[in-house]
Amino acid sequence: MKVAVVEKKCKESKPIYEKIKNLSNKYGFDYDEINPDIVFFVGGDGTLLRAVNKYINIIDRIEFIGINEGELGFLYDFEENDLENIFECIKNQKLSVSSHRLLKGEFDGNVVYALNEIRLENPFYTLVCNAYINDKFLEKFHGTGMLVCSTLGSSAYNKSLNGALIDHSLEILQLSEIAPIENNVYRSLGSSLVLSNGSVIRLNGTFEKAIVGYDHLYTPIEKSEELVISLSDKKVNIVRKPNTDFIDKISRSFVKWLI
Ligand code: NAP
Ligand code: MN
Repeated sequence: MKVAVVEKKCKESKPIYEKIKNLSNKYGFDYDEINPDIVFFVGGDGTLLRAVNKYINIIDRIEFIGINEGELGFLYDFEENDLENIFECIKNQKLSVSSHRLLKGEFDGNVVYALNEIRLENPFYTLVCNAYINDKFLEKFHGTGMLVCSTLGSSAYNKSLNGALIDHSLEILQLSEIAPIENNVYRSLGSSLVLSNGSVIRLNGTFEKAIVGYDHLYTPIEKSEELVISLSDKKVNIVRKPNTDFIDKISRSFVKWLI
């Protein structure tokens, strides 16, 4: 068994990193950053995004285990004091894992993958684009951008756009508009659209100064006239604490104030 750690580099994560290394030694596991079987991500949800991106080429072979440290950590189930128990479960092959397909974005010969969302955004000029779902015309959009999130990403940027939070057991795509212009000349759907897992979303137009954002990364798209978004065959495998309830997670993360 080969283990690696991706951490949010801060003084709080250092002792957790050391503890994981010591436990790996104790259990006879190798520390292998290049070709790990298990990747611990230590920090917040942003750390998982970076870990997924780092291991994107071997993602299907890896199991990710999140140890939350000081951030929101919506996608995390474990804390530092769960570590001994986690190593026992690894040894006894008793980890409970849930797999989630990543989003795929294709434009101008590029293929990008994302865990949370892929978005077409123009912070400088009004973005004008035609949106097609499975080759059916939906709308001509005018505004700042359009965002497509996965189930796991529904609680991230999508939530700020009043998109729906989606139960993690479902596999969907959700299209949301970013600051649409709504007046007597321009009109678009104005609400989020939840689509089945095989759907293909095609956004085309002319994209001067626009970018494609995918999780914490972005690439300029101005040379291309089309962005195609769908669910990919790549999956992220996340180790879950048994009996973790989705509603408890939402309540803990978004409703109850932490005082
Ligand atoms: P970041 O500060 O790590 O992330 C921004 C916030 O989003 C943090 O509170 C983060 O939680 C939370 N978050 C990320 N993924 C989440 C998920 N799946 N469910 C619930 N909360 C989640 O910044 P970053 O490193 O640039 O992260 C990129 C992400 O930020 C993007 O994927 C996008 O979803 C989000 N974002 C949101 C907005 C917005 O809401 N207006 C704008 C831009 C980007 P942690 O504290 O646990 O890291
Ligand atoms: Mn963060």
